[in-house]
Amino acid sequence: MFGQAWVMRTTVLGGCGAWPAAGQACSGYLVEHDGFRLLVDPGYATLLRLLEVAMAEQVDAVLVSHGHPDHCADLHPLLRARVLRDDPAPPLPIHTVPDAVTKVLALDRPGMLDDAYRLHEFAPGDRLSIGPFDIATWLLPHFVLNAGMRLAAGGRTLAYTGDTGPSPNVVDLARDVDLFLAEATFPDEVPADSARFLSSAGQAGENAAREPRAPPADPPVAGLGPVDRTRRGTESLRGECDRGSAWDNH
Ligand SMILES: [Zn+2]
Repeated sequence: MFGQAWVMRTTVLGGCGAWPAAGQACSGYLVEHDGFRLLVDPGYATLLRLLEVAMAEQVDAVLVSHGHPDHCADLHPLLRARVLRDDPAPPLPIHTVPDAVTKVLALDRPGMLDDAYRLHEFAPGDRLSIGPFDIATWLLPHFVLNAGMRLAAGGRTLAYTGDTGPSPNVVDLARDVDLFLAEATFPDEVPADSARFLSSAGQAGENAAREPRAPPADPPVAGLGPVDRTRRGTESLRGECDRGSAWDNH
C-alpha cells in the first residue's frame, strides 16, 4: 500500500530520552505522504536509523520542534551526507522555531554548509505548508521555545508534542487526530523543578484519554500491541520502539 497518495506513513527512528542507547536513537520520525519525506526532529543517532529506510538525499524537508540536541543534533551529519558527496543534493528546507538550530548549523567552518540547507523559521502558532503537509503549530511549555505540531495530508492527521510540560494546548493539539505522538521524559513522577516543562508517560496517557476519538482497533503505535492509552504511553517511554517500526495511516 505504501506509495499510494492517501497513505501517511510514520516511521519511528528513535524513542530514547536525553541520550541514545546501544542501537537506539533519540527522538526522530520520518513522515511520508505521496512520495514526500519529512524528517521530524533529527535527534541524536537518528541518522543511522534514517539511513536504514531512506538515503540522505531522499529527505525533502526537516521540521524541528525545539533546539535541544536530542531533537536536532543529527541534522548536522545529515547535511554533511548531502553536501559533501560528489553530486550534492539540493538545499534541504529546514523549518523550526527561531534560533533552534543555530548552534548545530555552526559546527562546521563558516560557509561550508551554506549550500546544504535553506532555513525557514516560524513562531509557534503559525501555520505551515511543507510539501503535501498542512501543519498547524502550538506553543507548548518547555525550557526553550517548543512547538507542538499537527500534520495533515490526504485526510489523515498526526500530532506531535516535542518535549512539553502539562498544557491545555496539548489536548487541543491532539484533538481528533489519527495518531498522537506524545513524548515524555519520566515514566511516573516529574521532579518538582521540572514539572512545568516536562511530562511523565502517565500524563501523556491521560492527555490521550481526554481525546474522545476511539482508538484504532489494533493500535500500531511504536510497534506495541493493543494496550490501553495510558499504558501505551508508559511502554513507549521504556524504549519498546521497534527498529523502524512504522504506521501506515490509510
Ligand atoms: Zn527538550
